[in-house]
Amino acid sequence: MKKSLLALSALVAATGALAFPDKPITLVVPFAAGGPTDKVARDFAEAMRKPLGGATVVVENVGGAGGTLGAAKVAKANPDGYTLLLFHIGMATTPGLYRKLSYSSTNDFEYLGMINDVPMTLLGRKTLPAATYPDLIKWLNDNKGKINLANAGLGSASHLCGLMFQSSIKVDMTTVPYKGTAPAMNDLLGGQVDIMCDQTTNTTGQIAAGSVQAYAVSTLKRVNTPVLGKLPTLDESGLKGFNVSIWHGLYAPKGTPQAVLDRLNTALKEALKDADFIKRQEALGAVVVTDARTTPAEHKKFVTAEIEKWGAVIKAAGQYAD
Ligand code: ASP
Repeated sequence: MKKSLLALSALVAATGALAFPDKPITLVVPFAAGGPTDKVARDFAEAMRKPLGGATVVVENVGGAGGTLGAAKVAKANPDGYTLLLFHIGMATTPGLYRKLSYSSTNDFEYLGMINDVPMTLLGRKTLPAATYPDLIKWLNDNKGKINLANAGLGSASHLCGLMFQSSIKVDMTTVPYKGTAPAMNDLLGGQVDIMCDQTTNTTGQIAAGSVQAYAVSTLKRVNTPVLGKLPTLDESGLKGFNVSIWHGLYAPKGTPQAVLDRLNTALKEALKDADFIKRQEALGAVVVTDARTTPAEHKKFVTAEIEKWGAVIKAAGQYAD
């Protein structure tokens, strides 16, 4: 069987058709294993297997510095289609936040398309003496100077959401950065940090188990799942216009051959129709994208607009890192 597959791929190569992929693909996740981006990536890697003719997509976690270490690794990787990046809104926030980035989000990647949209939730440790959002606001105001807010580093989704929350309620907090919100969640569970924003792909299970307290969702609309449906939005809770929705996209290093990009984009579109993938994502509050948003050109246009939008927010907040 193996022999005939090898013979087939040699034949395909001989006829000039594309023999890609003929070995495992590495999908770099720029955050720690077990977190929300990692969870999306592992389900997505599985959904890509069939459209890629059975090829294995191996997830590699390269966490740190708000996702910029993993993105830098892919920007410098061999542009042959065997090293890809799955990144989120950080693709658009880090250009405004880091004075020195070793890569350019717009010039050093080939855009393959968007994957999904994911809301965030505002969480507190289980022992925090606040059961509802108004209780939380009171507790935060009563404990100014003593509050620890966890995040996944500058430019991460949790950083962005936490930053907007702090400036909306006008309470400064001490931010505690991690390599991803998986280790941050461990510390929230252990009570070492007080609050955190995190994507529903990571928080749904903890909320359902009652191991954390959930106060609100970050999107304008409530999230229609059995676990998250009862949570108010921050907008309806008094922070008018508060809206942070996290998206994920797929990228290859600049210079990857067009035929390989086309093959990957076709596989991406098929993976996004995978019923199991859609179901698993929906159960966690995420919405798998379709149609125009899955094209490289649309995704690049979208990210370029996001860079501008978040760049202005970050500039106004006076946040920078070297
Ligand atoms: N949720 C993280 C963030 O705040 C990323 C992660 O760990 O997946 O960006």
